Amino acid sequence: MRVVLLGPPGVGKGTQGRRLALEHGWALISTGEMLREAVAQKTPLGTEAQRLMDAGQLVGDHVMIALVEDRSGRPDAAAGFVMDGYPRTVPQAIALEGILKQRGQTLDAAVSLAAPEDELVRRMSARRECPICKRAYNLVSWPPKDGRHCDDHPGVELIRRADDAPETVLRRLEVYARETAPLLEFYRGQCRLREVPGLGTVDEVYRSMTGALGL
Ligand code: AMP
Repeated sequence: MRVVLLGPPGVGKGTQGRRLALEHGWALISTGEMLREAVAQKTPLGTEAQRLMDAGQLVGDHVMIALVEDRSGRPDAAAGFVMDGYPRTVPQAIALEGILKQRGQTLDAAVSLAAPEDELVRRMSARRECPICKRAYNLVSWPPKDGRHCDDHPGVELIRRADDAPETVLRRLEVYARETAPLLEFYRGQCRLREVPGLGTVDEVYRSMTGALGL
């Protein structure tokens, strides 16, 4: 199955996407993760992307489209993929259609996860990740066993992403409303949209999402 996850930052796309991909043997294509890796490795893409990411702005469509065209064409994505963080603009969604069409494929569904803005701000301020395995935690709702270190990497302290700083979070929500929210209409018009409440426990949201996908 080929699925894209839509929704504002902090709604749980990363957590849900990771689980959906893992449980079904599909590739997880997280463009935010790919960009953060490029930043860590100081590649030319990383250098260009870092300034925009830290400011809560989007990286240019042409760069993102090329990245996704390459990643979604790799063998591990042949059986299916879950995209987390792409598409983020209507031109990116149109490009994805073209890329898949060239391969004789189509997108099966666009899942939209939703939650009220004050909840998103609260979640992002408590969000942490392991710098080694990128496993996501939330100090309030999904804390690590000892409250500070990764469960899978004992002794490795969890970190806050630079773009989860409070002022950047507000900018990211604005950018979402302006650039990404129109994608809901785009996919609704194609009858591919599946709307799922992003409130509740991780398990509850996961069950609603798999139910909406008919899994
Ligand atoms: P995320 O981890 O999905 O929240 O992405 C973190 C940041 O990476 C975003 O705030 C953007 O700056 C950038 N980014 C990730 N995916 C995209 C995309 N599809 N288009 C443009 N920028 C992106």
